[in-house]
Amino acid sequence: MLKIDQSLSKYEQAKKHLAGGVASSLRASQKPTPLYAESAKGARIRDVDGNEYIDYLLAYGPLILGHAHDGLTDAILSAMRKGYTYGLQHDGEIELANVLIDILPCADKVALSGSGTEAVMLALRLARAHTGKRKVVRFHGHYHGWSDSIFTSFPGAGLAQSDNDGQTAAVPPGTQGQSENSLADIILLPWNDFAALENVLRVRAHEIAAVISEPVMCNSGCIQPKSGYLEHLRTLTKELGIVFILDEVITGFRLSLGGAHGRFGIKPDLVTIGKAMGGGIAISAVGGSAELMKHIDTAAVSHLGTLNGNSVATSAALATIRELKCDNGVVYDRMENLFIQLSEGIRELMHKHSIAGVVNQVGPVFHMMFIDVKEVTDFDTFNRRDSGKYVKFAELMLEEGVLLRPNGLWYISAVHEQADIEATLLAVDRALCKLI
Ligand code: PLP
Repeated sequence: MLKIDQSLSKYEQAKKHLAGGVASSLRASQKPTPLYAESAKGARIRDVDGNEYIDYLLAYGPLILGHAHDGLTDAILSAMRKGYTYGLQHDGEIELANVLIDILPCADKVALSGSGTEAVMLALRLARAHTGKRKVVRFHGHYHGWSDSIFTSFPGAGLAQSDNDGQTAAVPPGTQGQSENSLADIILLPWNDFAALENVLRVRAHEIAAVISEPVMCNSGCIQPKSGYLEHLRTLTKELGIVFILDEVITGFRLSLGGAHGRFGIKPDLVTIGKAMGGGIAISAVGGSAELMKHIDTAAVSHLGTLNGNSVATSAALATIRELKCDNGVVYDRMENLFIQLSEGIRELMHKHSIAGVVNQVGPVFHMMFIDVKEVTDFDTFNRRDSGKYVKFAELMLEEGVLLRPNGLWYISAVHEQADIEATLLAVDRALCKLI
């Protein structure tokens, strides 16, 4: 049995004065209770009850170098000794901007912020300033942070369809307290649907400032874009004077050093990056064409933030990029090969235990789900998965010494090893056995 006494008691303590008991709402969903970390190193994390786990949660994505990476820690500590944040400018900002321009195929310039949510807010503002239009097209199943300007929940399948005039149903809020005015500016469409995109964009181009999309639907099933879909998005938005924003907060530095747009050879107008960029330290960026980014140069668009570009964060990002670039980025092949092995192993084990399921893997990220279909290539099918069963599985995996995100998304870091994959497959085998 998993020991959770200390975590349980700390959660009770936390709930007294910490709203919701956790610092980010999502974390409250962990079963059997939100766990409290004691320490972490490499691919392993220990909780306060003394349980040690191989970690595939990786703090919801940022820890691409694993926990407490020596090179990254040294870089952060040496930056801190010279002051954490200055409110003045410093070399780290210039160096990071130069490095990012080299890495990100779509970027002539970058702007630095602190979180993915802020990067998306800035990208949307740039798009509106550039086009003089208000509406933003976003897709069913994608997540772009929790700001009023873009947060939604997802209606049932039919509601996301458009009629012949390109009109869509009202967009449901992502949370209580969200501004209805913001929601009125969002057009929600099914993703990977060429016809829906054509219909709405051609009819309503005059009011649409931007289309924002994850390049791979990582937040809902790790679903890949259909062949030609991102290219179609690129061509159509260019033709119609709409800004194309690729939200690479998950895929940036993960699918390749140049993110998904580097890997797939797509050139959006703006890209948002975060998570893995700082290896676990808060930093994000918007990168884009000079034409779009000039609105910050001219101060037409305000880009603000007290801690933006602080020297600890820029040092962390530079050190992370340095590590990922080592040996010509060989780490990406290593991570991908280990995850191919792990995802194939999990598919075989589900088959062995006669449990219906799908694992959608793209490079160093995959989504595992329990569902009785051969493949999951759209959001509606993804929505039919047995999410309760997966939560139970993730709980069983804790007992087996493996930490997973309760929604099915797995990340790997540069320091996971072959032995971790083998140990994980043995754990999956035992957990699936108990799941039946
Ligand atoms: N965009 C995408 C694609 C994300 O997955 C996330 C977070 O999961 C965000 C934006 C928001 O990033 P943050 O949580 O750093 O605000």
